[in-house]
Amino acid sequence: NSVQVSVLGLGAMGSALAGALVKAGYATTVWNRSPEKAEDLVARGAEAAATAGDAVRAGGVVIACLLDHASVHEVLDPLSHELAGRTLINVTTTSPAQSRELAAWAARAGVAYLDGGIMAVPDMIGRPGSSILYSGSAEVFHRYKPLLDLWGTSTYFGEDAGLASLYDLALLAGMYVMFAGFMHGAAMVAPAGVTAGEFAAMATPWLTAMTGAFEGFAEVIDGGDYTVEGQQSLAFSSLGDLLAASSDQGISTEVVAMVQRLIQRQIDAGHGEDGFARIIESIKQPG
Ligand code: NDP
Repeated sequence: NSVQVSVLGLGAMGSALAGALVKAGYATTVWNRSPEKAEDLVARGAEAAATAGDAVRAGGVVIACLLDHASVHEVLDPLSHELAGRTLINVTTTSPAQSRELAAWAARAGVAYLDGGIMAVPDMIGRPGSSILYSGSAEVFHRYKPLLDLWGTSTYFGEDAGLASLYDLALLAGMYVMFAGFMHGAAMVAPAGVTAGEFAAMATPWLTAMTGAFEGFAEVIDGGDYTVEGQQSLAFSSLGDLLAASSDQGISTEVVAMVQRLIQRQIDAGHGEDGFARIIESIKQPG
C-alpha cells in the first residue's frame, strides 16, 4: 500500500488502530510520549519515530489518538509547519466545540482535517460491531475510506467537524439513560430476592424488542403531528404505578420520576391525549 500513515498516541485505542493498519500492510510510523508502548507494534512491522515531529514528517496522513483535546494541542501546536499540506485524522474524543476549534486550527495551518468519534472499545477495532463516526473534510473521508474501513464501519455526517462528536455524545446519552433504566429495574426486584443476573435475562430480550419503537416515534416526531392515531397517549403513560411500586420497595424513584416529569409537563400544557413521542417537546424546551 502506497499510503504512508503515522499514528500519534499508542494508548489502548491508538495501539489497536495502528495494529490494524500494520496488519493490512500499510507503511505505519508510530509515536508515543512513553516510547516503550511502541515496542510491540515495531515487532509486528511498524516503524517507531523518536519524536512526534519525526512521525508527522514520515506520514502523508497523520492519525491522532491521544487522551483529550488539550493533549492534541500540546502535541500538534509546535508541529503546525510540518503538518501543513498533510492530512490530519483526529479520533481523540473531543466535544463538538473542541472538534470545530481543531478544524479551524487545521484550516489556518493548511492541514486537511477529518474528525472521528470511535463507537467501540479497543478489542472491537477491525471486528464486526465496531463503528466510527466522521465529520469534517469530505475529500479526506472519501480518499481514505479504505483505510478507515479497516477499523470498523465508517459513517460520514458532513463538513461541520463537530457533527461526529455530537452524534457520538447523543448516542452515549441514549445508552446511559437506558443503562440507568436497567439498574432501576434490577434495584426494584432485588428486595424480592431476584438477582441482577436473573433480571438481566428478562431485561435483555424485552429492551431489545422495545428498540423497535424508535422508528415509530421518529415517524411521529418528523411528521410533526403528535395526535396521529394508534399511539399510546401521554395520559395513559402515567408512571404513577411505577413510582409507587419503587417507593414500596424502598428504592430511589429518581430515574422514573425524571421520565414522569417530562410526561407531566406535556399533560399540564393540555396535551394528555397526544402520543408518548411528545415528551421530546419537554426535552427540546427546558422547563
Ligand atoms: P489511554 O489512556 O490508553 O492512552 C492515552 C494516550 O494519550 C497515551 O498514548 C498517552 O501517552 C497519550 N497522552 C496523554 N496525554 C498526553 C500528552 N499531554 N502528550 C502526549 N501524549 C499524551 O487512552 P485510550 O487509548 O483508551 O484512548 C485514546 C482516545 O480514544 C481517547 O480520547 C478516548 O476517549 C478515545 N476512545 C477510547 C475508547 C476506549 O474504549 N479505550 C473508546 C472510544 C474512544 P502515554 O502513554 O505517554 O501516557
